[in-house]
Amino acid sequence: MEIVNGQYTVSGINLSEIANEFGAPVYVYDGNKIIEQYNRLINAFKPLNIKVKYACKALNNSSILKLLKQHGSGLDTVSINEVKLGLLAGFDPKDIIFTPNCVSIEEIQEAVRLGVHINIDNISILEQFGHLYGNTVPCCIRINPHILAGGNTKISTGHIDSKFGISVYQLRHVARVVKSSNIRVNGLHMHTGSDILDAGVFLQGAEILFDATKDFLDLEFLDFGSGFKVGYKEGDITTDIEELAGALSQRFQEFCKEYGKDLELWFEPGKFLVSEAGYFLVKVNVLKQTTATVFVGVDSGMNHLIRPMLYDSYHSIINLSNPEGKQRIYTVVGYICETDTFGWDRKLSEVHEGDMLCFKNAGAYGFTMSSNYNARFKPAEVLIWKDKTQLIRRREDFQDLLRSEIVAEL
Ligand SMILES: *Cc1c(COP(=O)(O)O)cnc(C)c1O
Repeated sequence: MEIVNGQYTVSGINLSEIANEFGAPVYVYDGNKIIEQYNRLINAFKPLNIKVKYACKALNNSSILKLLKQHGSGLDTVSINEVKLGLLAGFDPKDIIFTPNCVSIEEIQEAVRLGVHINIDNISILEQFGHLYGNTVPCCIRINPHILAGGNTKISTGHIDSKFGISVYQLRHVARVVKSSNIRVNGLHMHTGSDILDAGVFLQGAEILFDATKDFLDLEFLDFGSGFKVGYKEGDITTDIEELAGALSQRFQEFCKEYGKDLELWFEPGKFLVSEAGYFLVKVNVLKQTTATVFVGVDSGMNHLIRPMLYDSYHSIINLSNPEGKQRIYTVVGYICETDTFGWDRKLSEVHEGDMLCFKNAGAYGFTMSSNYNARFKPAEVLIWKDKTQLIRRREDFQDLLRSEIVAEL
């Protein structure tokens, strides 16, 4: 995002004009930034056989999926419907991995029928999978290495109390089940959680995964999940991808020699690819001076962007309508009848009713977590690709609210 001729622009496109053309609230995604991030990851790990599986729960609009597919990405999915969205977007089933948690064996069977990679995260399902398929369908095993990482306990998944993965201490048991049913394990996976701050944590996890390979002789890939931390505000520490790649690449190559086979190295980034590419634009409805603060009330709320209330996440807020205005302190809140604060005590250029505000880092877990709470419509989505803007999801209308209802006889 830059200021050009006194206007906030993204890839050369004026954000206020997007809000004027498509209306607010609206999610705007910069496709150029998504592909830049994708290429950065690929280039960093170039010496290795790296495959990126985009974790599409972060942002699953079909146009975004197609864009990433066009550039060579695969897909990480967590529900059968995400698998189907990926297939519809044109992904080869071989490039999709299904990594669900606590789903039924029936859902896994459906994914097998669709031909995608299966990642199993508990022993009960592993046993059932073995009974059903023996060695006819390979699977990957999700290991929980019990590394505590992540900025918030709600988003870290590798700790001892986490429901994710099979504990690394249960590998003996896994090996028994695998042997009894002659299961072909083609991959090992770990995803320790979001917001890992340094390469050391990754390497620790990597060693645990390398160690675990001893029990599995048919491996084709190791999947290191995600956890790349992106910056939300100036001065934030972010994952240094190039440093990580340097450290991991060498160790990974040594490991492949020990294992006796060149394995593929998989990552499943969500936020890293799409967070910074997203901007959420909202209009100021009211300014409300109370005894304690000045509230800016906008035409959106936690129904559209729940992360600040759910994870205490920080999203920078910018007043697009007054780029050079005097800085003042505001608390920015939504219109939902709950406390839905986007940001306390934020410095914004002087705000007037009718101004357009922009939330940054809105590409990941923004629209996909939105709801119709308070009978509000979900917002529109717009893609900037090359130097064009396109509507990639229309704003909902009143019919959408009633579409699945059935009227009772009273
Ligand atoms: C959510 C998820 C990811 C992506 O996490 P980010 O923090 O968005 O990069 C990757 N792998 C799995 C299994 C996930 O559930």
